[in-house]
Amino acid sequence: MKVLVCLKLIIFSSFLLTCSNSKQIPPKAVKGVLDLRDWDFEKDGNVNLDGEWEFFWKEFPVGENLELPEGVKDYISVPGVWNGHIVRHTSETGEVTEEEIPGKGYATYKLKVLLDKGVPLGIRLPELGSSYSMYVNNILLYKSGTIAVTEERSVPYRNVKYLSMKLEGQSIDIVIAISNYQNTSGGMWNSFKIGRHESILKMRDGNVSLELFIAGVLFIKGIYHLSLFYLRREDKSPLYFGIFCLLIFLRTLLTGERYLHILMSDLSFSLSIALEYLTLYLGVPVFFEFLYSLYPNEVNLLIRKIIIFFSLTFSSLVIILPSYYFTKTLIAMQIILLFVTINGIYSLIKGMFAKRIGAGTFLVGFMFFAITIINDILHSRNIINTGYYVSSGLVAFIFAQSYLLSARFSMAFTDAKEARRIAEEQRQLVQSAKEEIERLGRTKDEFLANLSHEIKTPLVTIYGYSELITQEEDLPESTKEYGAEIYKSAGMLNSYMDDVLLVTDLETNLQLDKKPYSLKELVEISLQPLEPLLREKEIQLSIPDLSGSTIICDSVLFSRAIGNILKNAIVYNKTGGTVTLEVKQKGTIQEISIQDTGIGIESEYYEKIFDKFFRIDSSLSYEVSGVGLGLFLAKRILELHGGSISVRSEVGKSSEFLVVLPVN
Ligand code: ADP
Repeated sequence: MKVLVCLKLIIFSSFLLTCSNSKQIPPKAVKGVLDLRDWDFEKDGNVNLDGEWEFFWKEFPVGENLELPEGVKDYISVPGVWNGHIVRHTSETGEVTEEEIPGKGYATYKLKVLLDKGVPLGIRLPELGSSYSMYVNNILLYKSGTIAVTEERSVPYRNVKYLSMKLEGQSIDIVIAISNYQNTSGGMWNSFKIGRHESILKMRDGNVSLELFIAGVLFIKGIYHLSLFYLRREDKSPLYFGIFCLLIFLRTLLTGERYLHILMSDLSFSLSIALEYLTLYLGVPVFFEFLYSLYPNEVNLLIRKIIIFFSLTFSSLVIILPSYYFTKTLIAMQIILLFVTINGIYSLIKGMFAKRIGAGTFLVGFMFFAITIINDILHSRNIINTGYYVSSGLVAFIFAQSYLLSARFSMAFTDAKEARRIAEEQRQLVQSAKEEIERLGRTKDEFLANLSHEIKTPLVTIYGYSELITQEEDLPESTKEYGAEIYKSAGMLNSYMDDVLLVTDLETNLQLDKKPYSLKELVEISLQPLEPLLREKEIQLSIPDLSGSTIICDSVLFSRAIGNILKNAIVYNKTGGTVTLEVKQKGTIQEISIQDTGIGIESEYYEKIFDKFFRIDSSLSYEVSGVGLGLFLAKRILELHGGSISVRSEVGKSSEFLVVLPVN
C-alpha cells in the first residue's frame, strides 16, 4: 500500500516537473542579436529571449529613435542581475576606469531578434527589479511602474503581463529601460518569452490554472488541518501543517504569475514584496515545528532554536526595513532553508531507522519537495534556468502528508474506540463489583441477624437467671456481685443484638405504626434506660416543658432514635457536663436539637458517623462500648419518618445533633 502511494507521488511529481520542458534547445542571443530564423514557433514552441543583450549602464534611450550612446555600449547576460557587472568608462584623456555595478541604479537593455517571416507574436513580460519600460521597434509596448534616474521619482511595480506584438519586417528591436532602487538586486533577472500569439496565451492559461489549482489545494488543506487541530488539540502537527499550507497558499498567489496582482491591481509594491518574503521567512520555522511535532526524538533541539531565532529576526527586519535592505537577507534565508531541507532529510532517515510512524512516506514526499526547493533557490540565483516549482513540489509533499496525517488520525480513532471498549469493560467490572459488595453486605446483615436471633434465646436465659441470682437472699454477697455483672453484660449484649436485628428490619422496609404521641412522653421513654448513665457521669439535663408538643410517629422506633442520640450526648460528655434539649416549630417543620458539652466531633466525620458500623477512632471510643450502629439506626428511623439528622460541633467543647421532622 505504502509503495503504491510513493509510486503515485513519483509519477505525479515527475509529471509536474517535466510538463513545461520544450523539445529543442533554443538559440541564445550573441552580441545583442538573437537569430530565430531557424526557429519554427509552430513546431518548436515558445522561446526565451536569453543570451547576450546590449547593455547601457546609467543611460535611458532618448528621442523618437530611442538613441543610446554607442560609446558606453556593453554586453550583459540575460536572465541575470546587473549587480557585480563590470562597466568600463573612458575619460576624455583616454583613461579607462572600471566600475562594479551596485544593485541600485538604472540602465537600458537592447536586443535585435531576427525572424524568418512575420508571424503574429505574443510575449510574456516577467517582473523585473523594479520598474521598466519596454519598446518594440521604437514604440512603447508596456510600462511597469515608472522608471527614473532618481529613487524619489521612480515607482516600483511587480506583475506579469502577456501582450501581442504587431510586426512588420523580419526583425524586431527590443529596448528595455530599467531602474531599480527598491531591490537589493537589479536588472533583467527573469526571461522574456515570445511565441505564437495563441501559444503564449495557452501558456498563460496553463500557468494560471496550475497555480490556482495548487493554491486551491493548499487553501483547502490548510483550512482542513486547522479544523482538525481545533477539534483535537492534543496533536499539534495539523496546526503547523495547516499554517504552513496557508502561508504557501499566499506565496503561490504572490509569486509565479502573481495572480494576487490580477485580483488586486492596487496592491502596493512594498506590501506585496513584504508578504512574499514573510511567507518564506515564517514558513521555514513553521515547517520545522511541524517536523518536530511529528518526530520530536529525531529533530535536533538546538537547530530548532537557531531556525526560530533567525526566522523571527529576519521577519522583523521585513516588517521594519525598506525592501532594498530586507531583500539582502534572502541569501542568508536561502542558506538556512537549504540547511533545514538537509536536516529534515537526515531527521526523517533517523525516524525511518527508529521505525517511527509514517517516516518513510514523509521522506518520499519531502524528497520531492526538497528537490523543488533546491531548484527554486538555484533558479532564483540564475545558476540554472528551470522556473519555480516549489508549489508543485509542495503538492506532492501534501499528498504524502495527508496520507500520513490521515493514518495518524485513523490510529487515534482506533485508539479512542479501544479506550471506549476498555472503559465500558471497566464500568461493567465496577458495576458487578458493586453488586457483589451489596450482595455480600446483605449476606453479612442476614448472617448477623440470624446469629443475633440464635444468640438471643440463650441470652434471655442468662439475663433472667443472672437477675434471679442478684435477688436470691441465701447466696453469698460475692456470688450476687458476679450475678450482677453477668446481668449487666447480658443486658448490653441483648441491646446490641436488638440493634443488629433492627438493621435488617429497617433495610427490608419495616412497616411503621404511626400515631400522635406527646414528645414529653417519648423523651421520658428514651431517658429511662439512661438513668444509671446520667447518674454515673453526673450529667445535668436541661429539657424545656414539652407538654404541648405532639409528634406523629412509631413510638418504639422514634424513642429509640432519640434515645441513641441522647445516649451519645451522655457517654461522649465530660463528667458533670450538660445535655440540653430544645424544640422549635418552624412552619411545617419541627426541629429537635440535642446539645452536649462533650469531646466534640471533627468536621471530616460529620457524614461518616451516620454510616453503618462506623466509630471514630479515639481513646474515648475504646472506653465507651458500642458497635457503631446507634447513629446509623437513628438516621434510618428519622428518614422513615420523612425527617433528617445532621451534626455541628466544636472539637473539645460541644456537639449539636439537629433532628428535622415534618409536622404532619
Ligand atoms: P456507637 O454506638 O458505637 O457510639 P454511634 O453510631 O452512636 O456508635 O456513633 C458513632 C461515633 O460517633 C461514635 O463512635 C463517636 O465517636 C461519635 N459520636 C457520636 N455522638 C457523639 C457525641 N455526642 N459527641 C462526640 N462523638 C460522638
